[in-house]
Amino acid sequence: MRVVIDHRKGEGRVRHPEKVCRPDNPMARKPEWIRVKAPGHPVYYETHTLMRHHKLVTVCEEAACPNIGECWSQRHATMMIMGGICTRACAFCNVSTGIPLPLEEDEPNRVAEAVTKLGLRHVVVTSVDRDDLEDGGAEHFARVIEAIRNVSAKTTIEVLTPDFLRKPKALEKVVAARPDVFNHNLETVPRLYPTIRPGARYYHSLRLLDQVKQLDPSIFTKSGLMVGLGEEKMELAQVMDDLRCAGVDFITMGQYLQPTVKHAAVARFVTPEEFEEYGVMARAKGFLQVSSSPLTRSSYHADSDFAALQAARAQRLEEGS
Ligand code: SF4
Repeated sequence: MRVVIDHRKGEGRVRHPEKVCRPDNPMARKPEWIRVKAPGHPVYYETHTLMRHHKLVTVCEEAACPNIGECWSQRHATMMIMGGICTRACAFCNVSTGIPLPLEEDEPNRVAEAVTKLGLRHVVVTSVDRDDLEDGGAEHFARVIEAIRNVSAKTTIEVLTPDFLRKPKALEKVVAARPDVFNHNLETVPRLYPTIRPGARYYHSLRLLDQVKQLDPSIFTKSGLMVGLGEEKMELAQVMDDLRCAGVDFITMGQYLQPTVKHAAVARFVTPEEFEEYGVMARAKGFLQVSSSPLTRSSYHADSDFAALQAARAQRLEEGS
């Protein structure tokens, strides 16, 4: 397949023509409750320098996350391992699509060093989809977890993984490395998968989360949804029920924001009051932890949310004993 060099993203990055040639979707003006401050804090620049020094890719930058100013000024960066080129082309995602580069052997150590220098109590590690690798990158995830544990034993580790579709035994490898939190985002309701997440399968993703609990019930499981893509409230309620049936502990819900005109359009901006309502609904369904707000992202406030998650489990165990 012919590939197109995406010069806006730097030399050598590639995109499939299909992704480049999507029709333009005009970008809607954001409501006032979505506005964030531009990055400018000195610690933000320190975090930026550290990431470049260790040659690390972050989802904060690749996904053009609106929270980067706030998170990086607290040294909270989410590292994206296995490169900045993804083998999928989801309609919501700003990460480049193409043929990824080979894995870098020293990346686990570079991530671990950065975690130490940032002094992180809790770290979130995610990756691009690596359908080109036999195990989808599972072994690499396990190596990163091990490297962090070797240098910073007290840091709790959250992985946000791809779906490992058609990668038998991949999940077992990641679970065997015993991350503290296993996160895999469903992203949207099943009806919208063919247009929003065409390379993925809703029930496969759900089963993945269910299998984590079956393999190791001590690992917290977490999943996230973007709203404002055209989903109905009842569809969200059904997804929450599905996640609870899979034993998922923590749900995050945030507003979808369109990265460029080539991505899916925002169907509507969900109001802060509606996010409150979704949060109430999720808590009533029994999640241990719920984060629901326009700017919620999978890794937003992940450290304090992890502490709350542990406390909620302890309380529930106490109530049940
Ligand atoms: S919310 Fe997550 S992805 Fe966004 S800037 Fe914060 S740590 Fe990075």
